[in-house]
Amino acid sequence: MIAHVLPTYNRADLSFEKGEGSWAVTRDGTRYLDLGAGIAVNVLGHANPDLVAALTEQAGKIWHVSNLYHIPQQEKLADLLVEATFAETVFFTNSGTEAAELAIKMVRKYWSDAGQPERTRILTFEGAFHGRSTGAIAAAGSEKMTAGFGPLMPGFQSLPWGDMDALRAAIGEDTAAVMLEPLQGEGGIRLLPDADLREIRALCDKTGALLVLDEVQCGMGRTGRLFAHEWAGIAPDVMMVAKGIGGGFPLGAVLATEQAARAMVVGSHGSTYGGNPLACAVGIRVMEIVADPAFLADVSRKAGLFRQKLESLVAAHPDVFEGVRGQGLMLGLKCKVAPGDLVAAGYGQHILTVPAADNTLRLLPPLNISDDEIAEAVARLDRAAGSLDG
Ligand SMILES: *Cc1c(COP(=O)(O)O)cnc(C)c1O
Repeated sequence: MIAHVLPTYNRADLSFEKGEGSWAVTRDGTRYLDLGAGIAVNVLGHANPDLVAALTEQAGKIWHVSNLYHIPQQEKLADLLVEATFAETVFFTNSGTEAAELAIKMVRKYWSDAGQPERTRILTFEGAFHGRSTGAIAAAGSEKMTAGFGPLMPGFQSLPWGDMDALRAAIGEDTAAVMLEPLQGEGGIRLLPDADLREIRALCDKTGALLVLDEVQCGMGRTGRLFAHEWAGIAPDVMMVAKGIGGGFPLGAVLATEQAARAMVVGSHGSTYGGNPLACAVGIRVMEIVADPAFLADVSRKAGLFRQKLESLVAAHPDVFEGVRGQGLMLGLKCKVAPGDLVAAGYGQHILTVPAADNTLRLLPPLNISDDEIAEAVARLDRAAGSLDG
């Protein structure tokens, strides 16, 4: 008999009753050091007092109103995002997938309004992940996500990861957009070099193609800048955000320039819950904390500490690890063993990590993890790796 919860997840035999900062606690009181953070969601850890206050304060006032009316929390959060980024306008969603859907719709509408409705080809890179909607799986294109779900939405052309020659050859006057994660998450913590991102921006400028960045996982302070593309000194035309922006409350957003968004007129898109007062009240608090330059500088400082310790860990277990990759507190350990085996060994040491493609173990701690917790995490990973040493 099928489980009452549709069995689409391969779940570990673990459940958590509460959380405290970087720790997730089971019902019997066992504390797990959480280096998954709900897959880069709990940017300020579990049960953060500032976020609990923001949520409960709003919960006592009004939970939900339709987008038929003005939502002041939404307007304030949009102000904060516009102030802190390239964007001139923001649409709020409940998830990264919905943000990807709107980004794709925005690209299509842009070219349709520009009198080129046939200009629908969007270039992507292999290993991409944009969610699980029919559009998002078509964009990612991997067999694993698309098998059995055809016919797929047309219009995407997937290029080998980071293959700039392939991109130079593929991009042209008929390209609608280039859509990519500057630092791939699910794909295995793979960082596109700044120079390549700058060249992609230039190629988009030359051909008129829109640059759409998916910063659902690598954004919101994860790399030590508010958004990862800032390291390359470029700006996209459209950007998807989710995961960290709600700190654990479901919230996503599409940020765009006025030019890219100009075709999205009244009636062209909508959402019942998107930008709901509860979600935006939390999002405002997250932005106030995370966009602070001092907070971001501390993320970078801790990332340096973490990375240095991980390099030693790799050196100590040459049969288990191949190297460290990533940026900021979005780090990956490229493995010689199956990353799933390390995740399981980690459970034995009461540490939570996340596997990714390309044989990589993902480490995505809360951005406010302490130095001591970083040291503790590496000690636990050391014991987990020790149990797998050849
Ligand atoms: C998680 C993720 C998504 C999808 O977000 P959901 O909130 O799960 O819909 C999209 N893009 C990237 C890069 C992600 O990591």
